[in-house]
Amino acid sequence: MLTNLNFQAPYIEMTNLNNLWFQITGFICNLKCKHCYLSCNSTNKTRNFLNLDKIRKTLDQVNKKTLEEIYLTGGEPLLHRDINNIIRYCIKYADVNIITNGTLINDKKARFLRQIEIDNDYEIIFRISLDHYKEQKNDDIRGKGSYRKTLSGIKSLINNGFNPVINAVNLWQEDESQFREGFFDFLSQFNFEPSEINLKITPPVKTGEFAKNFSVYNENDLVTVESLKKNNCSLKNFDCYNTRVITDDGVYACPALVNDPRGKTGETLADSANKFFLELNACFSCQQANKKLFNNEWNL
Ligand code: SF4
Ligand code: SF4
Repeated sequence: MLTNLNFQAPYIEMTNLNNLWFQITGFICNLKCKHCYLSCNSTNKTRNFLNLDKIRKTLDQVNKKTLEEIYLTGGEPLLHRDINNIIRYCIKYADVNIITNGTLINDKKARFLRQIEIDNDYEIIFRISLDHYKEQKNDDIRGKGSYRKTLSGIKSLINNGFNPVINAVNLWQEDESQFREGFFDFLSQFNFEPSEINLKITPPVKTGEFAKNFSVYNENDLVTVESLKKNNCSLKNFDCYNTRVITDDGVYACPALVNDPRGKTGETLADSANKFFLELNACFSCQQANKKLFNNEWNL
């Protein structure tokens, strides 16, 4: 029997950094979702916010020829008091993705950010978490009232010319094509044309609150050289292949691991070309999905 003591984990040596994430608000969030794999909430201060100076210094070191997208995440990145300046700075380098629950977006905010986008060559892409198109199911996970606030944020974005990507975790193990159809029908009411690209459905990462409230990985939920072959998985489909996350506590391999010291690849981006072994249980979710859990996939 395979145990986590004797398996052979594959590894990644990142050659090109295409996706650069900044965890700008640590684990602070205005929601407290039951499935949050990072256990974010309004009081989790275990990581400091990232300041603009660190973001500037990081972008100075990046190879601009290979950089494709920047992502701002947390917690809830729109809680950063310097968010507008951070977006203004990052958008000089690449498209800026804002990974948000959407509850803090209103017409004024959307109009303001749309103007920043118009004034620059790159885009602002909103990735909005909404787990279910039915209010009760969504709010059971994300908190009462969150559905209406998120929906209001989505409408403000659409009204101001944005085309957000909706991000849902299929917690109910609903048939994926029916789940997708349900979202398509629902979102079509709002002058929004959902497609495979702007509706991202992912399996859960079973750490943090998810592990407390739902289930944990089994001991043998691991990625091995053999399991990759068996499942016809390419490491190129895994986010860590071309991604790093800058946090106030150094650099991490991917957004799933920013709360796990084993996910740290070093203090600086320069350390990040070292081999990174995919030996954590969270890696099993990437193998299950066999697609990028976090980065956009524009070429579907
Ligand atoms: S899942 Fe997202 S919105 Fe919910 S608590 Fe975590 S960071 Fe906040
Ligand atoms: S969780 Fe996924 S993206 Fe993160 S290091 Fe493991 S395989 Fe890579």
